[in-house]
Amino acid sequence: MERDAERLLDDLRENLQFLSLLGMEFVIQDSSFFSLEKEILTCQKCPLAQTRKHAVPGEGNLNAELMFVGEAPGRDEDVQGRPFVGKAGQLLTKIIEAMTFQRKAVYITNVVKCRPPGNRNPQGMEIESCKRYLLAQIEMIKPKVIVTLGKVAADFFISSPLGMTALRGNFHEFHQIKVMPTFHPSYLIRNEGNRKLKRMVWEDMKKVMAFLGKK
Ligand code: URA
Repeated sequence: MERDAERLLDDLRENLQFLSLLGMEFVIQDSSFFSLEKEILTCQKCPLAQTRKHAVPGEGNLNAELMFVGEAPGRDEDVQGRPFVGKAGQLLTKIIEAMTFQRKAVYITNVVKCRPPGNRNPQGMEIESCKRYLLAQIEMIKPKVIVTLGKVAADFFISSPLGMTALRGNFHEFHQIKVMPTFHPSYLIRNEGNRKLKRMVWEDMKKVMAFLGKK
């Protein structure tokens, strides 16, 4: 039995080497990503698993140079199993398109993959239980820039006592990846009349575009 397992592992290793010789690492990447998504969809690590309809792993291009990270799924996301599909999501899509990216060209996810009841902020132990998933997604996608949306996402990457207004607008660094914190689209919606906020987000996105060589 053990010998069979060893032989299977050897075969698998050989096949993976062969795929990578052919320049087809993406097959390996896709299958690891698929396993990770499956793990997220069936996760029972924290109490949010009891109240969610669907876990929301994230979506987009697995080779994206740009990744957006929000806080946690809301009601619409919980129902559909997709990130940023409600009102805030529609605004995020507009921002992404204004940056001359297609939504499907970037990767969109959240710090916490299940909806906290009543849209409350995720708690420390929920963030801690979910941490490995976001880190694995970043490790596999290897984006050049991560845009964090709101304070919960900013706090995940940047250890600082500063508030959003002071944090935003400057690149920070996380495992040699540039991180640009900006306001959450829901905050922009809640402060609809505040044109200064919108301008600040756009300034932040222009810095990201410049870093990625976009005009
Ligand atoms: N807000 C978030 O932080 N994430 C979503 O996916 C939707 C709304």
